[in-house]
Amino acid sequence: MAIWNLGSINIDVVYRLPHLPAPGETLAATKVTRGLGGKGANMSVAAARAAARVAHIGAVGADGGWAVDRLMEYGVDVRHVARLSGETGHAIIAVDDAGENNIILYSGANRTLADDMIAGALSSADHGDTLLMQNETNGQTEAAKIASQLGLKVVYAAAPFDADSVRVVMPYLDMLVLNAVEAAQLSDSLGAELGDLHISQIVVTRGADGCDHYDNIRKTKVHYPSVKVDPVDTTGAGDTFTGYLVAGLDRDLPTAQAIKLAMTAAAIMVTRHGTADVIPDLKDIEDFKL
Ligand code: ATP
Repeated sequence: MAIWNLGSINIDVVYRLPHLPAPGETLAATKVTRGLGGKGANMSVAAARAAARVAHIGAVGADGGWAVDRLMEYGVDVRHVARLSGETGHAIIAVDDAGENNIILYSGANRTLADDMIAGALSSADHGDTLLMQNETNGQTEAAKIASQLGLKVVYAAAPFDADSVRVVMPYLDMLVLNAVEAAQLSDSLGAELGDLHISQIVVTRGADGCDHYDNIRKTKVHYPSVKVDPVDTTGAGDTFTGYLVAGLDRDLPTAQAIKLAMTAAAIMVTRHGTADVIPDLKDIEDFKL
């Protein structure tokens, strides 16, 4: 059992400021921290923390060796992460004392993946059983096509949302994961209810309200209430949820059980400040349940 994750790798640089800068203003930051980020990297870390075997397919620029090392430290296979010239994807995040933020995102190497590199990875002898993808890299359609031909399960977390990106990969998907806003946008854009789409499984996360699972083969919709916690920072909840969900399914847990595992991991995540570095592991989940 193993997971391929075609996903972004970002360097998140967070500047702490007394207030967000106005146009033309120069402001001294009181603190700066650098962390591994990007939806792709976060989901790889989450799946690895859920004890799955994960191989990341992605790219960094000349300045990204550090981010690849971090992924490796989390146990992610990085043999198919290309090291290109140019910039690694990054997010420059300004946070003020009231917790408001501004984010500048630069996709850099994440959107310069070569199709033959993706195809080469997916077709290699050690291929996985599941392909996970998000919308922060290029190459999803090609990857989904190859993966479905190889008989892999294809899971797409459609964020950042773009209806066209869903439309083109839809024929190859086994599961689509959306948050509530994305689900409404997709439904509006396609003029159809989620339960009527030709995608076998759809999971819609609804923050503190839990999630819904549409099984469009059995024609069922099941709601799962969230695990009750006192949230302090919801960043990365969705990525943790999806990484855990895919890891659970990869080890053949029934969908209901994989969803409950994912919800517990995401609930623990919202009680912590930070992203990739604080994604819970299975031990945290066991301790939480005690
Ligand atoms: P983000 O972009 O903040 O990472 P998202 O919008 O992709 O998140 P959400 O629907 O907010 O995803 O959250 C994903 C899952 O995390 C939810 O389905 C739920 O299980 C869990 N979760 C999120 N917020 C809370 C909360 N306040 N309390 C308990 N669980 C939560």
